[in-house]
Amino acid sequence: MDKKTVIEQTEKYYLPVFGRYQMVIDHGQGSKVYDNEGNEYVDCFAGIAVNALGYNHPILVKALRDQVGKIMHCSNLYYTEIQAQAARMVCECSGMDRVFFANCGAEGNEGAMKLARKYGVKKSPTKYKIISAQESFHGRTFDTLAATGHDYYHVGYGPLSPGHVLVDYGDIAALEAVMDDDVCAVLLEPVQGEGGVFVPTDEYLKQVRALCDKYDALLIFDEVQTGVARTGKWFAYMHSGVKPDVLTFAKGIGSGFPVAGFAVPEKHARVFAPGDHGGTFGGNPMASAAVYATLTTLKSENMVDKVAEKGAYFMDELKKLAAKYPEKVVEVRGKGLLLGMQLTKPGKPVVEHCLANHVLINCTANTVIRLAPPLVITKEEIDVVVAALDKALADF
Ligand SMILES: *Cc1c(COP(=O)(O)O)cnc(C)c1O
Repeated sequence: MDKKTVIEQTEKYYLPVFGRYQMVIDHGQGSKVYDNEGNEYVDCFAGIAVNALGYNHPILVKALRDQVGKIMHCSNLYYTEIQAQAARMVCECSGMDRVFFANCGAEGNEGAMKLARKYGVKKSPTKYKIISAQESFHGRTFDTLAATGHDYYHVGYGPLSPGHVLVDYGDIAALEAVMDDDVCAVLLEPVQGEGGVFVPTDEYLKQVRALCDKYDALLIFDEVQTGVARTGKWFAYMHSGVKPDVLTFAKGIGSGFPVAGFAVPEKHARVFAPGDHGGTFGGNPMASAAVYATLTTLKSENMVDKVAEKGAYFMDELKKLAAKYPEKVVEVRGKGLLLGMQLTKPGKPVVEHCLANHVLINCTANTVIRLAPPLVITKEEIDVVVAALDKALADF
């Protein structure tokens, strides 16, 4: 099909919930994607921080090809070797002891919040409050929607799931004011992604941990976006050393295969009894093969250190742009390869300008350019992105 037909057919049959660019993607290689007219793009957004290993990584492709010919799915009523391997790797990389696999980030967060509710209600029937942050993003299911601190996502979906309280991110006094014995969990992103790439202080996270301990509430870190080496550590909590009680993950963990979940230390391994939680597809052999191949490859390629190094380089380059365009760029934020450039006005034209120059970037929270390339991006490719941003900002 030609470009026009693909777009027309999609617009005819698909629900119009996405604002899409007029581009039909055909395939990818490394950190590059190709449209169906043969044009090459440097991808600095990785399918929303998903394609950790980039496109067409030979180890991941082989793992999935081998698995598809063996068995794709067999339910969680049986054991599989590949799930055992994937679970072990997630625990080793995350510093947690037990894992549960789901299919998307929202579902991972749902499971984490269900675990917290069980934890709380075992102590007191009124211990069910879940506190999360303004400008957060935790997903689009009913409960994750209620935990997401954006009115924009809530409009038209009331009544929202009860038992949720929102507070300003980074404001420990605001959290302290709503903490009490009825709180079963505090749910936070260790770096806010969708909200605009906001990095809290380590001090804040430590104080949050202390408040959770004081009120016997579980600290849930939503690492759906920040996990899997994205920030230059296996998981972002490792920067502050503030360990959560529940860690959720998705996006990068399957490098493009839809898989997610949550992990807990051993002390919370028995909050759920058999039958309390489950899922048909979660951690099926394909998903497990993707997780195992992704994590073992990131590890053998020493990607955590490489991301830290490339992220620092990228950040420096972006800071130079910020200095060059002080009337257009407020600041640059982020960790590792999750970077945000706060603009003084809506950033959509910058994204479009870069797209016209064959570089894919994102704008979130209206005025923040978000960069989250495949972790395998090269310095040369980062330079291409910076040059495209430079041109776009000059025009902006
Ligand atoms: C993307 C995202 C989610 C939702 O993940 P889905 O796979 O779209 O359900 C949840 N939390 C954070 C921090 C995210 O970035």
